[in-house]
Amino acid sequence: MSDPKRCPLCGEPNACGVAAGDAACWCFSVKLDPAVLAKIPEAAKGKACVCRKCGELRPEPAVSAREKP
Ligand SMILES: [Zn+2]
Ligand SMILES: [Zn+2]
Repeated sequence: MSDPKRCPLCGEPNACGVAAGDAACWCFSVKLDPAVLAKIPEAAKGKACVCRKCGELRPEPAVSAREKP
C-alpha cells in the first residue's frame, strides 16, 4: 500500500512528478489542505503524494452545502 505513484487517499494515480523521476512536482506549488494532510496514513507520509483532486483546495465548500434542502 505504499505505491508512490498513487494517491494514498483515493488510490488514483497522483501524477506526482517526483515519483515519475522529475525534479519537481505540481504538489510543490500548491498549498495542501491541512485536513487533507492529516488524512494521509503515517506510512504514506513523505512517500506518496495525494492526487490533485484530493490535494487541491476546493473553490466551493461542497459537502455541507449540498446536504441542505
Ligand atoms: Zn486522491
Ligand atoms: Zn508530488
